Amino acid sequence: MLSRRPGTTLDALFHPRRIAIVGASDRPHSAGALLWENLSGFAGEVLPVSLSERPFPDSPTYRSLRDVPGTVDLVVVAVPAAAVPAVVGEAAAKGARACVVISGGFAEAGSDGDVLQQQLRQTAEATGIRVLGPNCYGVQNASNGLNASIAPANPERPGTISLVTQSGAYGMALHTLAIDEQLSFDKVVATGNKVDVGDAELLEYLGGHGSGPICFFLESLPDGRAFFDSARTVAAHRPVIVCRTGRSESGRRAARSHTAGLAGPSRVWSAAFAQAGVIETRTGLEMLDVARALEQQPPPHGNRVGIVTNSGGVGVELTDLLVSEGLDVPRPSDALQQRLAAELPPHGSAQNPVDLTTAWQLFPRLYSRVVDLLARSGEVDSIVAVLLQRSASTTVATAVADTAARLSSAGIDVPLYVCWVAGRGSHEDAGPLRARGIPVFEWPERTARAVGHASRYGSGHTRGHTTSGKPERAVPIETTADAGPGWLSVADAAGLLDQHGIPLVPWSVCATVPDAVLAAADYRRPVVLKAVHAELLHKSDQGGVALGLDSDDQVAEAARRLLGLREGTRLLVQEQAQGAEVIVGGVRDPELGPIVMVGLGGVDVEATDDVQFAVAPVTPVEAAVMIRRLRGAASLTRRDRTVDPNHLAEIVAALGDLVAENDDVLEVDLNPVLAGSDGAVVVDWRIRIDSSS
Ligand code: ADP
Ligand code: MG
Repeated sequence: MLSRRPGTTLDALFHPRRIAIVGASDRPHSAGALLWENLSGFAGEVLPVSLSERPFPDSPTYRSLRDVPGTVDLVVVAVPAAAVPAVVGEAAAKGARACVVISGGFAEAGSDGDVLQQQLRQTAEATGIRVLGPNCYGVQNASNGLNASIAPANPERPGTISLVTQSGAYGMALHTLAIDEQLSFDKVVATGNKVDVGDAELLEYLGGHGSGPICFFLESLPDGRAFFDSARTVAAHRPVIVCRTGRSESGRRAARSHTAGLAGPSRVWSAAFAQAGVIETRTGLEMLDVARALEQQPPPHGNRVGIVTNSGGVGVELTDLLVSEGLDVPRPSDALQQRLAAELPPHGSAQNPVDLTTAWQLFPRLYSRVVDLLARSGEVDSIVAVLLQRSASTTVATAVADTAARLSSAGIDVPLYVCWVAGRGSHEDAGPLRARGIPVFEWPERTARAVGHASRYGSGHTRGHTTSGKPERAVPIETTADAGPGWLSVADAAGLLDQHGIPLVPWSVCATVPDAVLAAADYRRPVVLKAVHAELLHKSDQGGVALGLDSDDQVAEAARRLLGLREGTRLLVQEQAQGAEVIVGGVRDPELGPIVMVGLGGVDVEATDDVQFAVAPVTPVEAAVMIRRLRGAASLTRRDRTVDPNHLAEIVAALGDLVAENDDVLEVDLNPVLAGSDGAVVVDWRIRIDSSS
């Protein structure tokens, strides 16, 4: 991934005036032919470069880019991979500022392809030309009719949604389905192998150009930290929706600390997305549905959903699904029920879901009245109208669309969604709804997912926390023996924690029984003795922790036993602290960089698995939010012990700073931190650093 070069923005990609297609062709279904066809309607000049004999009789065709008169802005490349680096070099020489490389056969194709991709990267770096791809399907910009891709563009109206997809074939399939379902896009970018133009830069660019939701369909995110930083800024004013596939644990390094063991990539990424205000979806389809929900409707201000349906069965299924999304389908007040009942046929239900029964001649009026009453009631934050079989008709769709238009001109901003349950042949009938910007979703499952995301987005809206820039690097760390390769010694780790103001229990390390007795005499009783040795990773499991030592004799006896565990063992003497056991950890994620974690700790932390992650640094306020989100947060304030979460939050924030400031710190485990009502103190600490640099 190249860092961004000054002066080489992505404008040339989205706003070219003269475009050359290298590899233009008249061979049916070839990339060169699709490009020529897709660019035929472009308002600027399109120049085919081809080795074939006069493939386009009506247009001058050039045998090489060098033969094209004047300069070009954008070069679209669809020639065999081996020829691509040279073509990109020629494009740069021609003054082009951007290239779209459609050709495949690079890193995705094995080691020969790797070499070519390397050459392509070097050409981009050396010349400053921006390269999209390779192995991608191109770029589209509906606002100026640009379709420099091998995919079909929007059929009619340009939309406001932008789509960035790493996957070529699947991305194109999603894009096609979306168009089939009458979703329109503003900008579509296929990133392919991302040799130069990456997701973080695209997010920043798109965030500054346009207005609708921005969707990312991703497999990898090598510029993860930069993406996170851009997302924090952009998501504060526009929905950013990400589906990241390949959330497997394959990237996970061999972990020896609890923190690294728990920090699987998918949960760390989910934490980062949530922190940045990004909406994360499980699938590509869900991503597009959420975009549809947020494109033209205001986000719901809360979680209360009103449902109107002509089938009890579908209403119940939808209710279950909405509730499992964390939403509420509340019972209307008595007054509202009376108003609803006055409109309904005899067997209708004025509960929520409001059931219109099968009175199909009355549907246009009934849907319209009920939607209107719900929207004006102040008792729901969004409305789902289920249009099923008989009611999935143009007449009902028109009545619902007209009602929505009236409500919106009356300044009522309760969003309306339609759940369409009928055969495929009826889709045209939903046209009046789509034309008014009312999202239509097929079936309850897709509806509930989209409304769930939209509602959480609308009611959460706590986005864009500030982040202090990158702090200065702290003093260099020296590693010493006693903890195993890469692990800091007890004393060095303690020194680094001290520098960051993280409170440790009074401690000292010694080597003999008399020294242990002497050291213990300085501490408040009872004291704790621990065996320190590189092979004793989980000390208590291996008999290496002696708690509750009240006398010199007890200390001496424990010291003798611990020294006998392994040749070369040393002794860690500590005061015995009290409090709830909490784990605070730090880890360096390969894509996101410094990560901080807090959880219910102790030796069972993996089994409990009650932890929260965030990208560091975090403020103490953000850390307090992490603590509140723990499933077992309540157990920290049980009757017999009251934890002041502020002390703990300070430690979490300080550890976040430590990991953010020290590039060579890979893993930190503070397990446990004993947290009480008047303070919190670390009694077991481990730090692994990158000893390769
Ligand atoms: P390890 O995690 O390697 O087994 P610890 O130092 O965390 O070793 O000790 C194991 C457990 O012993 C801790 O989870 C905690 O319950 C208890 N413990 C350890 N040190 C102290 C201390 N100084 N004060 C109170 N309890 C302690
Ligand atoms: Mg421990």
